[in-house]
Amino acid sequence: MKMKKTILLLTATLLLHTAFAQSEKCATAKAWTLLKTKDANAQARMEQMEEFTKNYHAQNPVLNYKVNNTANASRSQRSVIMIPVVVHVIYHNEQLGVGANISDAQIHSQIDALNADFRLLNADSIPTSHPFWNYSADCMIQFCLAKQEPNGNPTNGIVRINSSVTSFSEQDFFDDVMKFTSTGGDDNWNPEHYLNFWTFRIDATSGMLGKSSFPSNLATNPELDGVICRFDAFGTTGPLRPANTLGRTMTHEVGHWFNLKHIWGDDDGATQNLACDLGECDGSDGVDDTPNQCERNYGCPSFPNNPYNDCGSDENGDMYMDYMDYTDDPCMVMFTFGQAERMQAALAGPRAEIRNSNGCQMSTGVADIYADKNIEVSPNPSSGNFNIRFKQGTGEMISKLSVSNSLGMTVANIELDNSDNYQLNLSNQPSGIYFLQAVEKGKTISKKLILN
Ligand SMILES: [Zn+2]
Repeated sequence: MKMKKTILLLTATLLLHTAFAQSEKCATAKAWTLLKTKDANAQARMEQMEEFTKNYHAQNPVLNYKVNNTANASRSQRSVIMIPVVVHVIYHNEQLGVGANISDAQIHSQIDALNADFRLLNADSIPTSHPFWNYSADCMIQFCLAKQEPNGNPTNGIVRINSSVTSFSEQDFFDDVMKFTSTGGDDNWNPEHYLNFWTFRIDATSGMLGKSSFPSNLATNPELDGVICRFDAFGTTGPLRPANTLGRTMTHEVGHWFNLKHIWGDDDGATQNLACDLGECDGSDGVDDTPNQCERNYGCPSFPNNPYNDCGSDENGDMYMDYMDYTDDPCMVMFTFGQAERMQAALAGPRAEIRNSNGCQMSTGVADIYADKNIEVSPNPSSGNFNIRFKQGTGEMISKLSVSNSLGMTVANIELDNSDNYQLNLSNQPSGIYFLQAVEKGKTISKKLILN
């Protein structure tokens, strides 16, 4: 009796494995494992980030979703954070809107999808009657296509590169080849002020969809920061793969960019076989309100999936509809409050500087983006005399102080005396916009001056 049952179970398991023999979709976790072998401090940085996140949660308790029960509870307590995005479209000799040279409409549709998903405005969110509805969060994060470049010039947030690379291999995908101009891609924009996306063609043999960097590597590897995605899993319109038509590859990857882990905790145990092996309940995604899940889910399961599974979850089973699982686009529809708060921790930590970015604001044609909190100018606007004040003791770090007009021509050089206070008289200049430029520790910071 027992034997027969075992054989039946084995057959069922084998069938299951055949039916769900799926390739890895997201390279983030594997790339992280590879990074740890090359960068001895990567693990320590990640642990430090976990510690920071833990402390952040202690000081900013996760909203009690079980009591408050609605997504609106988070809306009232957080303000929306805008994230400027630049999309680097890497293609090879294709016309605009053809193949990897994806249309502006396809790019806009991806931004729209992110804005819906991160604000719980997605039309396909689970119904309020669903047992997991109380966990569904408005993450209070929105995205814009950049309106100004790091130097202040206007942009539509899209950079198109006609590359010599026809198609990137899966190895290129792991090696971040598309992130560098020198290897047929495009260098990222200042990752402290922009979220960089790259779209491109990957070899037809690869099932990889996307990959993201983690915030704990921003300071050490700024040039690698951002999210890569094959062009046919990007956006909600255009030549898309059948299971990836709702832009959720990017929702998932941007989740990683904000430090989210896979919902099953990336504990693959002895085998990556979708069965609950020894050790697969040990890993965690560092989030309290996602049920402990032993394996990833593919396709489109029906609810409840794996109720009372080996990790001791309850009758609701896996939260397979979470964006950080591996289900098809139409079946992943939510982030939890715990995930939303984990993202807020990243935005209070390594990603905090992006909150000061001007990337989402219309360019005024002037570079004010590196304006530093260390300089104050008053009055501004002025009819001629400006008082320049550096934060106490920082004036001596300035090695050059000059003023240029809107054409970039220097109109004044200010003699430095290591003090924190300077006077500037521009009354001999025509009225208009000028830039005060200060070289501080080798970095030029600039401040817009308005002369009436
Ligand atoms: Zn992933």
